[in-house]
Amino acid sequence: QMSTAQTEIDSLKKQLKETVAQANTDALTGLNNRRFFESIYNQFIQQDGAVEASLVMMDIDKFKVFNDTHGHLMGDQVLKLVGKLLKTECKEPIVPVRFGGEEFALLCLGVDLKKANEIAEKLRVKLSRIALSNKRTGEKISPVTASFGVAFTKKLELLSELIERADKALYQAKEKGRNCVQVAL
Ligand code: GH3
Ligand code: MG
Ligand code: MG
Repeated sequence: QMSTAQTEIDSLKKQLKETVAQANTDALTGLNNRRFFESIYNQFIQQDGAVEASLVMMDIDKFKVFNDTHGHLMGDQVLKLVGKLLKTECKEPIVPVRFGGEEFALLCLGVDLKKANEIAEKLRVKLSRIALSNKRTGEKISPVTASFGVAFTKKLELLSELIERADKALYQAKEKGRNCVQVAL
């Protein structure tokens, strides 16, 4: 009886672990999600409330037009591809997540603004150089680009304020003509 109970406990533990992993994962791209991003960030808040980290917000350019032109399924393929790119390119301590829709975020713990800017710039170039085509029709598709906003934590700043500053920088990158990186002051 004891051993049956133990087997059941082990199985439940495994199920729980899987459920937690699922809750932190975006189903389409396999990247972690915003929920995971927030929990990691909160773990790094020190006793004095400080976090030393850069945040990179990335948003695919004109993605609505892409969907309208090539279809939503092709759009999904692009999001998967971006997920793959981020997984390959982002090494510790950089945590890439799908923030929502066609937006991604990189939490760069202990990374300064200059380095975060370089990381964003490298990703920008890599993405813009990926050759795309429709596998079914063989049709070539013009490259997908993204715009980036980068911000570094300020003393006693809330996560929501950090996100807002990175978002503002991202908006400026869009205004400048897209496919570029903007650093927040
Ligand atoms: P901008 O350069 O200003 O960011 O333009 P945009 O078209 O990318 O921005 P907008 O916010 O107008 O549109 C976002 C688009 O992203 C519309 C939406 O259908 C698409 N999108 C969001 N999530 C998904 C998804 O999971 N799959 C697909 N295929 N498209 C998605
Ligand atoms: Mg967007
Ligand atoms: Mg967009």
